[in-house]
Amino acid sequence: MRFGAAVLRSYEKPFTVEEVVLDTGPAEGEVLVRIAGCGMCRTDLAVRRSAGRSPLPAVLGHEGAGVVVETGGAHTGLSEGDHVVLSFDSCGHCRNCLAAAPAHCDSFASLNLFGGRGENAARFTDAAGEELAPRWFGQSSFAEYAVVPARNAVRTDPSLPVELLGPLGCGFLTGAGAVLNSFGVGPGDTLVVLGAGAVGLAAVMAAGACGAVTVAVDRHPERLALAERFGAIPLPAAAADLPGSVRRLTDGGAQYALDTTACARLINDALRALRPTGHLGLVARLRTALPLEPGALDRGRRISHICEGDAVPRLLIPRLTSLWRAGRFPFDELIRTYPLTDINEAERDCEAGLVVKPVLLPEPMHH
Ligand SMILES: [Zn+2]
Ligand SMILES: [Zn+2]
Repeated sequence: MRFGAAVLRSYEKPFTVEEVVLDTGPAEGEVLVRIAGCGMCRTDLAVRRSAGRSPLPAVLGHEGAGVVVETGGAHTGLSEGDHVVLSFDSCGHCRNCLAAAPAHCDSFASLNLFGGRGENAARFTDAAGEELAPRWFGQSSFAEYAVVPARNAVRTDPSLPVELLGPLGCGFLTGAGAVLNSFGVGPGDTLVVLGAGAVGLAAVMAAGACGAVTVAVDRHPERLALAERFGAIPLPAAAADLPGSVRRLTDGGAQYALDTTACARLINDALRALRPTGHLGLVARLRTALPLEPGALDRGRRISHICEGDAVPRLLIPRLTSLWRAGRFPFDELIRTYPLTDINEAERDCEAGLVVKPVLLPEPMHH
């Protein structure tokens, strides 16, 4: 079948929206999904800085959601017409998958990021027959259609706005999962969130839903205003004595801190803002060494990396849609939609901080 997709052909050049070809339908255990909308995540844009590790040409996009149009075999657990949110891929049989930690799957990097999928790549090509990289995050959803392993397709209620649900599969899942799973935040707990982007604001919303007290730190006043609207206490990143300010606002120090900035200065500030036994989680990829000040981890403080909010997508995504229905996780207010053909404008707006979460809506080119 032929359909429209946004292809990245060079780390430096814009996306091109063009026709691509899928040679066969879904294999056993896969489903073909008509994409209703796909969020743009920092990890898509980071491909440009991957220095050759992420193969091109590629169809990116890993926050897809849509409708199942064909199932591969009788054992996918899904049916034609089901609404699904697509999340990250995992193997299902390594130690961490068996331990319900699929975000730490032994094959996470190769399955999702670096084109190491053991599949027949030749079936996915451009219109001229050139092979495209194996499916990004098992989906490649900046497209009208995606073939995905049924394992990472999460069925959702058809009354939900499916075109907006894709970011629940990665960005919003990461922020909310850090709060609900990795930290296990409870009522009256204290949290500081560094960086009020899509991940940070999802954390703010989830912490609010848990009855926690949250301080949000950002450079941009409009992002702080958003965080405040969702219940956080705003604190400018340039404030003098940031750790002292957080300690004052949290009765002696935050129990939890979530860093989405990968900025070494802010990470050290976050550690100094923690109370004894406090936990700092890092979600952004560090690009430099991280020097820690002497004593930063004293008195039981700890630091860990958090991937995909330690989520089992089939458990966390339904929790998030339930919270949304209850008015306690209004993620849709962070979204601006663009036609897929405007993907380069969406990227520019995202890099310029003009939009928290772009969602691209494919418009059929050939039907
Ligand atoms: Zn695994
Ligand atoms: Zn992502």
